[in-house]
Amino acid sequence: MTMHAVRIDMRFTGPPPGDVPAAHLNLFLGALRKNGQVCGREWPIVMDSGACVTTVLTPAADSLDARYHGTYVRRCIADAQLAGITFAWSLIGEECDSAEACGCADPGAYVLFTTYLTLESPVRCMDCFGPVPLYRFTAPPDTEFHDVISWQSDYQSCDHLQMNCTVLEKAATRQMSVIDSALSAAGRACCAVLSERAGKPFYYYLYRDKGRSAALEAQRRCPACDGPWQLPARLHGCFDFRCDNCRLLSNVAFNLRASYMMTAPDQLPAPIAPCPP
Ligand SMILES: [Zn+2]
Ligand SMILES: [Zn+2]
Repeated sequence: MTMHAVRIDMRFTGPPPGDVPAAHLNLFLGALRKNGQVCGREWPIVMDSGACVTTVLTPAADSLDARYHGTYVRRCIADAQLAGITFAWSLIGEECDSAEACGCADPGAYVLFTTYLTLESPVRCMDCFGPVPLYRFTAPPDTEFHDVISWQSDYQSCDHLQMNCTVLEKAATRQMSVIDSALSAAGRACCAVLSERAGKPFYYYLYRDKGRSAALEAQRRCPACDGPWQLPARLHGCFDFRCDNCRLLSNVAFNLRASYMMTAPDQLPAPIAPCPP
């Protein structure tokens, strides 16, 4: 199952309200997004035969089912009905360029992970690394996933800046790389809340751009507890370090990846035990 493109129609049971009709659809789409039922926020709205119509990306084919609606989505629908507005949706098809979603029956752990290119949910399964729709971590009444969506947007903004290498590159890279940045603090707070809700460990990933040498890279310790955290093999093509106490992940600096692989094994610290079942 991958992301899907879905058409949403907003229809009026009477004459369209006098104010800007798109405003009602924007409220509905915003509530769906904050509940993890819609990915991204680019939804061009057009008028078609008297209806307001847009196209959105959803995490799965059934993401707009009423059983996934949170408090705010249900409230939006009820308020719209009072104003003579109804919403309907129809599947257009699979999005061809998106990652395969997690299909694990019971993932052992999760990681908060996104990039400047990613539209999928910022929660990934640690077993298969597939994206997991946020609404699977049912929000309690009167809450939504605002903090997680905000972290995702902030992280992607930093990732954009470090990729573009022109504006605030160093500051943005630092936010993504160190444990005591505002971005890392916000991300780890999201992990703590989601972990509590899911009853499963949630890991936080610290990006590592540049290092001085492969040998020094191999000596890195967990930045929170100073314990060993080197993995015996790269996990999901991304992670070389993992601390199960602090629930942190990181990678060998991207500029040293090739030379790190050539480092003699006896120069590397003993790897920590493989992933617990
Ligand atoms: Zn999975
Ligand atoms: Zn640690």
